[in-house]
Amino acid sequence: MLQAFPLFSLHGRRALVTGASRGIGFALARGLAAHGAAVVLNGRDEARLDAAAAELRELGHTVNTSVFDVTDQAEVQTSVDAIEASVGPIDILINNAGIQRRAPLEQFSRSDWDELMATNLNAVFFVGQAVARHMIARGKGKIVNIGSVQSELARPGIAPYTAAKGAVKNLTRGMATDWARHGLQINGLAPGYFETDMNQALVQDEAFSGWLRARTPAARWGKVQELIGACVFLSSDASSFVNGHMLMVDGGISVSL
Ligand code: NDP
Repeated sequence: MLQAFPLFSLHGRRALVTGASRGIGFALARGLAAHGAAVVLNGRDEARLDAAAAELRELGHTVNTSVFDVTDQAEVQTSVDAIEASVGPIDILINNAGIQRRAPLEQFSRSDWDELMATNLNAVFFVGQAVARHMIARGKGKIVNIGSVQSELARPGIAPYTAAKGAVKNLTRGMATDWARHGLQINGLAPGYFETDMNQALVQDEAFSGWLRARTPAARWGKVQELIGACVFLSSDASSFVNGHMLMVDGGISVSL
């Protein structure tokens, strides 16, 4: 009997997933757990996080939760240190928490700009640095930053989001450049358009869905479970010489006119 080649196995690894109470983060946590990882789910809403954890425990997975706001650097550092001390080493970090704010740029408020940059960009640095310090001490670790197809495409009304995700792409390259020498792999995963809470208004907008189907070679919205394969690849030994790469999972929209 041939044994499965364990390149994609995550048994014996622990993954911290930020923004894992719902949407893409929850799907990725479920996928990593299904491939053997113990998972630590993060979010701000304790009740929602507990419900997500209970759902994964029902499936037999090893799950912990850590409630913190990724935009608060002090809280991030304390929470990451507490996970390392009381749950165990974080082998994999999925930097996923993110928000969207829509408005024409000439009307975009300073407070929305600050909140968006804090969540979608600053937090990738805060959580990445806090976790990487432990990973560097161990000489190994995997970080996957969730970017967006919007780092490649400009769409009306979301210029600050596009700017933040473009910066995440370059921060991913910078993290890889600084930390690969310490045995870490840092890569990114860039989703196209997926049906989550973030996109509720667009999903219900038939004109937008029509545009999306016409514009995307795969001619449909993505399903969150379709991000799991790429995330497991970037989190596992299968990607041991991949560093600083942003992997598009977008039905081809970023490569077609
Ligand atoms: P959702 O709005 O469905 O979920 C967002 C998650 O992030 C929630 O779990 C939320 O938790 C958490 N979160 C938000 N702010 C914070 C914070 N300050 N601290 C901790 N957790 C926070 O979004 P998606 O699942 O759609 O998006 C996930 C990621 O994927 C984001 O980075 C997004 O930019 C990216 N992405 C999404 C695409 C899509 O089509 N949906 C396309 C491209 C990229 P809670 O509110 O409970 O605290």
